[in-house]
Amino acid sequence: MINSLQDKVKLANGVEIPGFGLGVFQVPDHETKDAVKEAILNGYRLIDTAQIYGNEKGTGLGIQEGLVAANLKREDLFVTSKVWNDHLSYDETIKAFEQSLADLGLDYLDLYLIHWPGHDAYKESWKAMEYLYQSGKIKAIGVSNFQVHHLEKLLSFATVKPVLNQIELHPKLTQNELREFCQKHQIAIQAWSPLMQGQILTNPTIQSIAEQHGRSVAQIVLRWGIQQDILVVSKSVKPERIKSNAQLFDFQLSDEDMKTISALNEDLRVGPNPDQFNFVM
Ligand code: NDP
Repeated sequence: MINSLQDKVKLANGVEIPGFGLGVFQVPDHETKDAVKEAILNGYRLIDTAQIYGNEKGTGLGIQEGLVAANLKREDLFVTSKVWNDHLSYDETIKAFEQSLADLGLDYLDLYLIHWPGHDAYKESWKAMEYLYQSGKIKAIGVSNFQVHHLEKLLSFATVKPVLNQIELHPKLTQNELREFCQKHQIAIQAWSPLMQGQILTNPTIQSIAEQHGRSVAQIVLRWGIQQDILVVSKSVKPERIKSNAQLFDFQLSDEDMKTISALNEDLRVGPNPDQFNFVM
């Protein structure tokens, strides 16, 4: 388990990834710079964006300013982006990647993901990802929103295996079967919408655990993820929340707390079901 915001976990290809980071989904481009900079200044070392978020330029500016303000180097930061559903041909994936890199103002990415599996449309895209990985432009490649059956197909033809699957995961959607499969295949799990986009924060069971610990509900939910060795990306644009959401390493949830929170699972999604979402190809 990670014990600080800078602690990293080794992915299957040897690349180290910080266990907790800032995501910028639904952050307008002009607000992204400040959120990213604030996060870096508060000790975050992982920033998660995607081409479809339309804020890679703002993310890039935030990275630039944050690194200078915190006196850090590019290698100190882990940056993820994702290729969107309508760019899953070989050539489009390469083009989308180059555009993301240009917009971010970076010369490599730490992690690049296929954002959604579509109707198994990822074969050509994965070949392009392998090419980009082998040419050194990406340190690690992975997927997002892949179910077991998508992963089985991908693993049947991949020369370079995905090292990470970024999925919706929170106390109402614990994803046990997918996690088991990924663990068996050395694919790290990274949770998106860990706070259920804010909806989990009014849950009375978690509120009561938060009161017992003298912590915010968000901290309890995020700690629940970290304490199970799940990588987590959470979003806030508010400086005080960016700061407090990362204060996860000076308290511990008991086994009973962990069980109580996990028992809230209802296989309930706040985002789309990957088997139904946006089949453009
Ligand atoms: P989160 O579960 O992280 O929740 C974010 C929401 O919770 C925002 O509305 C935020 O508001 C609010 N919030 C954050 N902290 C607190 C707090 N302490 N108290 C009260 N409210 C709080 O949702 P996201 O969907 O943004 O998921 C996190 C990241 O995961 C994304 O930003 C993105 O990087 C990634 N993601 C990936 C997807 C994929 O398909 N691969 C899909 C969705 C997300 P405010 O900003 O005002 O604080």
